[in-house]
Amino acid sequence: MHLATSGKRPLPRRVAYVYSPEYAELASLLPSNIDRSKKVHALVEAYSLLKLRDLCVISPRKATVKELCRYHSRDFVDFLRTVENIDEDDDDDEDDERIDKLEEYGLQQDCSVFEGMASYAEHVAGSTIEAAALLAEDAFDVVIHWDGGRHHAQKDRAEGFCYISDIVLGIMELQKGFPKVIYIDLDVHHGDGVENAFQFSDKVLTVSLHHFAEGFYPGTGNGRLPSPRSKAVVNIPLKSGLTDGNLIRIFDGMIEPLKESFSPDAIVLQCGVDGMAGDTLGKWNLGLDGYGHCLKTILSWKKPLIVLGGGGYKNSSAARCYTYLTSTILERDIADDIPEHEYFEDYAPDFQLQVEPGRQPDENTKEYLKVVQALVNEQARNV
Ligand SMILES: [Zn+2]
Repeated sequence: MHLATSGKRPLPRRVAYVYSPEYAELASLLPSNIDRSKKVHALVEAYSLLKLRDLCVISPRKATVKELCRYHSRDFVDFLRTVENIDEDDDDDEDDERIDKLEEYGLQQDCSVFEGMASYAEHVAGSTIEAAALLAEDAFDVVIHWDGGRHHAQKDRAEGFCYISDIVLGIMELQKGFPKVIYIDLDVHHGDGVENAFQFSDKVLTVSLHHFAEGFYPGTGNGRLPSPRSKAVVNIPLKSGLTDGNLIRIFDGMIEPLKESFSPDAIVLQCGVDGMAGDTLGKWNLGLDGYGHCLKTILSWKKPLIVLGGGGYKNSSAARCYTYLTSTILERDIADDIPEHEYFEDYAPDFQLQVEPGRQPDENTKEYLKVVQALVNEQARNV
């Protein structure tokens, strides 16, 4: 624990962490991130972070239908909750109808139906709503929900590995206690679902930095306002190979000033880690320092904060990063040697917490970042 330079010991940050072994099992069924949840929480636990006095483990909870329908359409929610129980029929007409509905609600391909899907979606949404409610009650300063952060889900369909928009529902809950909310999205993909929900609001500023290139999912977020009526929307489109140094430069030079002018009352951070070096997507080249810097800066703003997960397709890297970020929130230094635990072998060959950068060149040159800065300035005129 750091001491304040004034000599007065700061109050420990009140931190909640959403976890239960049953929820980790359920979240580990997510087809895009099989077993990730279990491995993340196991590493956090192996570093003894869940035992700390200033961390309170809170149980996940299911969102009710009414809560889900605060944002999502009733038809979508009903279908999502019941589709697992609908048997494929001998009747061709009913089968065709089912296939049409699966298509309509996006429950195919990268969001295919899996056993436990409804329960998973209800828990993810309920837990982020609960995180927001706890902040609004002033029960905690920071709530961590690594299984949340599903930023592509839309009002009436699943998209991009995201079945439910826990983020939109969480922000809506936060708005009951906090007039202005800033949403910051560090995932390598554009946070299109959240942007779509709030783009016409001047009370929620959505800021997404992401890889942007032709053919790269979801293809939105080019740095120009999505609609002439859009209000507080800022997109930071970046190229391949982003390094910690440039992430830090962008965060300090572009995102921190946005926070200054917007002056939010609460913060939601989507911390997708699919931009890490070695992620199977292979787009960016980030390590722990880049994400850590962004989080430390956000913590220094001293506003109620929800920290969510997101993408991240190499389980051992996601576990390393989420463990490091948990320790950062708790202001504890942790050893670089991975402790012995159930998934220890996943950390071969070096068994270190740090993630080595790859050799990929950073295409975000000084000249390109000037172009991006101009785009940000233009979008920030509405903030
Ligand atoms: Zn992503």
